[in-house]
Amino acid sequence: MAKQTKNERHCSFCGRGEHEVQLLLTGLDGNICEQCVEMADNVIKTELGTKSDFTLNGEQLPKPIEIKNFLDQYVIGQNEAKKFLSVAVYNHYKRITQPKSAEDVEIEKSNIILVGTTGTGKTLLARTIAKKLHVPFTIVDATVLTEAGYVGEDIESILTRLLQVADYDVKSAERGIVFIDEIDKIARKGDNPSITRDVSGEGVQQGLLKLLEGSVVNVPPQGGRKHPDQKMIAVNTQNILFICGGAFDGIEKKIAQRLNTHVVGFGSVSEQNIVDRNNMLQYIAPQDLKSFGLIPEIIGRLPILTHLNPLDSEALRLILTEPKNSIVKQYTKLFAMDDVVLKFDDEVLDYIVEKAVEFKLGARGLRSIAETIMMDAMYEIPSSGVKELHITLDYAKEKLSHSQIKIA
Ligand code: ADP
Repeated sequence: MAKQTKNERHCSFCGRGEHEVQLLLTGLDGNICEQCVEMADNVIKTELGTKSDFTLNGEQLPKPIEIKNFLDQYVIGQNEAKKFLSVAVYNHYKRITQPKSAEDVEIEKSNIILVGTTGTGKTLLARTIAKKLHVPFTIVDATVLTEAGYVGEDIESILTRLLQVADYDVKSAERGIVFIDEIDKIARKGDNPSITRDVSGEGVQQGLLKLLEGSVVNVPPQGGRKHPDQKMIAVNTQNILFICGGAFDGIEKKIAQRLNTHVVGFGSVSEQNIVDRNNMLQYIAPQDLKSFGLIPEIIGRLPILTHLNPLDSEALRLILTEPKNSIVKQYTKLFAMDDVVLKFDDEVLDYIVEKAVEFKLGARGLRSIAETIMMDAMYEIPSSGVKELHITLDYAKEKLSHSQIKIA
């Protein structure tokens, strides 16, 4: 060992003097040598590397059953969609939190497509998943998109909204979830590729493909159309989870046609071939999306295809009271804040459901009907000194009958 000199500085971690090391960095109250820096770097890598295996945003990554249980608290029914979503989201986040090494099997991105009539819970499912995972989440409508050069929003503007909700933290946005609603509206009009370009059809699908596949795209920070002076933000979409939703009106016919051919092809009608004509969506397959007008490349990038069931009266009735933030619970809380105890008779809830079915408004109608019934009370009660409000069937019928036109 070389001789120690007086006033020599030492590494505060290993104690070696500056003549024994190549480099000694000096901090406020101490020093560190290059070897200790290297060691600390290794420790950091191992510690954070193993942790990131299981965590997302500093929290334990929830397992599929946990995600499904969480969804159950907010969304009624739709078990298959919940299960598919839970697994897909879990795999997606496992994939992106896994430390990378060259020999690893590459797990492919698992974007999702949800098919179901409007108001059955597609958006609600996507929103609830994002809530569980605490990641930036945004909903965009595919109908406003156009391919570059046409009037409308550029495809990249889908990511503007995500950047905005992530407070322009690009890293955070790059792990977010984008729900693209009404994906069916950008289907081309027939199964055959068109000769002429259609503004909102195939061209938009091609543009969307780029995002779904995972690439670095330049995003206009304020959205809308790109213009030359705007400074763009580069966003890598590789780890953004895309959930697409659509009603695909009329796809039942395509499914039926396919199933028919299938049955004929196999000759006999076996038990399995008996189809439930009231819910054809449950048999949906990727080729039906193609018949509907999505290009095969897009379908390939949405490998997880699942459906939502139509909501019957029983489901609608549960939606009123069961979810954690159900309509009834929300009204109860609103009145409780004014120290008013609110009570609905069961018949009122049955009546709301009956009307929602009658007006063909589905789950979306529940709120507007309830809102109509409750409006006068919400207006008057806070200044009335009343401490208890009991909504009876007669009261509900009376309120609704006065505003029949608005609802219908
Ligand atoms: P979609 O995206 O399928 O058109 P939404 O998810 O936007 O429908 O549903 C509209 C509203 O109806 C939701 O905000 C929610 O209040 C209610 N709703 C729909 N489906 C369900 C469901 N399965 N469980 C609970 N609430 C539902």
